[in-house]
Amino acid sequence: MMRGRDAIVWAVADSSVGRVVGVPGYPVTGIMEDLIERTVGARWCVNEKVAFESCIGASSEGGRGLVVTKHVGLNILADPLITSVTHTIGAGIVLLAGDDPGAKRSQNEQDSRLYGVLAEVPVFDPSTPQQVYDAIVEGYALSERIRTPVIVRVTERLVSMEGEVERRRVEASRGQVFDSSIWQYTFAGKHQLFHETAAREAIEYAEGGSMSRVEILDGRVGVISSGYLSNLVDELAMKDGVSHLALGLVYPLPLGVIGDFIERHERVLVVEETEPFIEDQINGVLGKRTGHLPHGRVEVEHIRAALERIEDDRVEATFRQERIDERGYRIHPCEGCPFTPFYEALDALDLMVAGDVGCSVLMAPLGTVDVAVSLGSSIGVALGFNGKGVAVIGDFGLAHSGLQAIIDALESDEDLLVFVIQNHVAAMTGGQPAVDLRRVVSCMVEDVTVVEAEKMDKEAYRRIINEKLEENGVSIVFIEGRCPEGAEFQKIRLS
Ligand code: SF4
Repeated sequence: MMRGRDAIVWAVADSSVGRVVGVPGYPVTGIMEDLIERTVGARWCVNEKVAFESCIGASSEGGRGLVVTKHVGLNILADPLITSVTHTIGAGIVLLAGDDPGAKRSQNEQDSRLYGVLAEVPVFDPSTPQQVYDAIVEGYALSERIRTPVIVRVTERLVSMEGEVERRRVEASRGQVFDSSIWQYTFAGKHQLFHETAAREAIEYAEGGSMSRVEILDGRVGVISSGYLSNLVDELAMKDGVSHLALGLVYPLPLGVIGDFIERHERVLVVEETEPFIEDQINGVLGKRTGHLPHGRVEVEHIRAALERIEDDRVEATFRQERIDERGYRIHPCEGCPFTPFYEALDALDLMVAGDVGCSVLMAPLGTVDVAVSLGSSIGVALGFNGKGVAVIGDFGLAHSGLQAIIDALESDEDLLVFVIQNHVAAMTGGQPAVDLRRVVSCMVEDVTVVEAEKMDKEAYRRIINEKLEENGVSIVFIEGRCPEGAEFQKIRLS
């Protein structure tokens, strides 16, 4: 018996993965911490694109690579991912993507499986610790066979569930290196070649059905599911005499297997999270589009209710649009936060402020920061404000993807005021170390100020904000401080 996260560590060890890199974020932080503890050379990386690119390098020389990222991290590495498919790779690469249906600790609920369609890479959506193990082990073999990376999608409920796992003798990596004969083709030619070879092999693999499980019970009502939700369907299906096709590979879909299943049933419901990914690829089924199930996180009660309305072609959906006060979110800094006077000063001024998805996003519902879309985005957003745009960013976000916007501001003679919350940790993900970029930024920007949070009060911050707003050009203020004992992030031990 082991948890899903332990199955991941064993699968990575049994697959002889040489390069393991990850970026912290819910729900993969704990998985990566385990990998760092138990895998030689496993380490955090500054962002997902660099993590993936370094795996491309290792793969070219015959070493297997693993990138551990939360769902939004796939957006950061999407550029090299999509081209790597037609460029081809050497040894296998697996992207372990942690989705967050319900957006428990994320800024959105995006569904990583959609990258299967966009990047044209296989996507595994395992349902049990055994399937997670199998998906990684088979993922490396498939990745090497078709010479593209593969995605294994996990969720928090899957990585924390326990189940029996049988480890198996895994075919050792043959150290396959990058085949540079691909450069005989144009970029368009590579794409054609991909469809003639790799894409066909992936479809054959999917139709082989090694990752699917089917139970035909009454032949009238059937459910197609994938991921963790297959466990919830199992609970109900057995009791209600409903047939069940549980898919462990969702791109490419085993359309032959699915077609047979649909033909044998009068009514078919698709149960999946987060988006109607499977449902949108097949005709004549019920699910989210027909109002039977909610988008986002799905619970057993949703599935039960959907099965009760299985005879209806369409259901008037009444799913809750949750408000922030109902969730009990913390919308203020931790007690004793050394940066509180800064936020108070900012709040007192009538300014449009771009926040980031570090601690500053907590201030958005209070109106202290106005816009906060994604990690590292605040400086770029502030560039679009009228006058001297104001951005607040954490040191982790600055290193992740904020720095380029400073370069752009300098190159374009923009006016910009950036406050860097330098607490030396990635607080929202549990306190992983953040890079100190003061020296780097000081080499680029003339107007750099460093203040110590513990020596500052609201009035001192008000003065510095007003003073810097008066000056033209780029101004960066590092606010140096340490989070107190008991800060919220120290309690976060994410799965
Ligand atoms: S984690 Fe640190 S910086 Fe963030 S609110 Fe808490 S004390 Fe302040």
